[in-house]
Amino acid sequence: MPDVIHAVCPQCRAVNRVQTGRLDSGPTCGKCQAPILSPHPVTLTAANFDVFVAKSDLPVVVDFWAPWCAPCRAMAPAFDQAAAMLHPRVILAKCDTQEELDIADRLHIQGVPTIALFVGGREKTRISGARSAADIVAWVRQNI
Ligand code: ZN
Repeated sequence: MPDVIHAVCPQCRAVNRVQTGRLDSGPTCGKCQAPILSPHPVTLTAANFDVFVAKSDLPVVVDFWAPWCAPCRAMAPAFDQAAAMLHPRVILAKCDTQEELDIADRLHIQGVPTIALFVGGREKTRISGARSAADIVAWVRQNI
């Protein structure tokens, strides 16, 4: 990992430079002071999805879900747990496909839940169906 990485503030979308040695010490946004790297999944919408995925140097794992989807709701605690386990080297995020139809359409999300891994702004791989926290973590570690 380089000495300095770029991380996007989930609150204000500012692209922050963070020293990799400080990833563990709760870096905050230089613009709005919000925590940049959270041990909880961040919410991605049309307002921040593109910049977040494109400008984050850390891998971004997005859970594409929908409120009506029972397996998605069942997986939510496992995804939260995986976020804590992978923090702060990997960012976990959630995108509600019912609200964000354009994003789901553009990325050809066929069903929910779908978990996609973005590295360097590009989708590297995806899996569909509900997973346990351990499965999500193992899958991410295999692919980064
Ligand atoms: Zn900010």
